[in-house]
Amino acid sequence: MECPSCHYSQTRVIESRTTDKGRSVRRRRECLRCHYRFTTYERIEFVPITVIKKDGSTESFDRTKILRGLVRACEKTGVKLETLERVVEKIEWEIEQKRPRVVTSKEIGDLVLAHLSHISQVAYIRFASVYKNFTSIEDFVTMLQELENKTMEEENHKNSLEGETSGQNNQKIPENL
Ligand SMILES: [Zn+2]
Repeated sequence: MECPSCHYSQTRVIESRTTDKGRSVRRRRECLRCHYRFTTYERIEFVPITVIKKDGSTESFDRTKILRGLVRACEKTGVKLETLERVVEKIEWEIEQKRPRVVTSKEIGDLVLAHLSHISQVAYIRFASVYKNFTSIEDFVTMLQELENKTMEEENHKNSLEGETSGQNNQKIPENL
């Protein structure tokens, strides 16, 4: 932090105090050269996330919209609301990592689908049919095929991991150790 008086770059912190219920830090600083004292504030940056919709228009990110979509897709599937709330939190977190804070509605949809595929296949297909604008039975068949392949891939992956672990257990300790 540069001294506002002499523009020297080295300052020391005399005092640090959190304010605004812990959401910001107030620091009293002193310039190491001219001893001028000044105050700085450190705050959590809040930048809204912009969503670009299919038609090119934009709106700010709204987590309740995602939750509503999830709740609708999970109707009568036995998936708990708190599970869905956690999904929304994760999605929001994933989007917040983006720089700049711009996301397309397609990216959000893909994130939702990625999470739903682990939670409920019924909900996954329901959400996909709305989100991908299914118009024919072929769309559903393709989607089901994709989902099946994905599940199989995951199963294979799991099996190969298990195989590796058991393989390690059976492995003999090399004699030269
Ligand atoms: Zn100074």
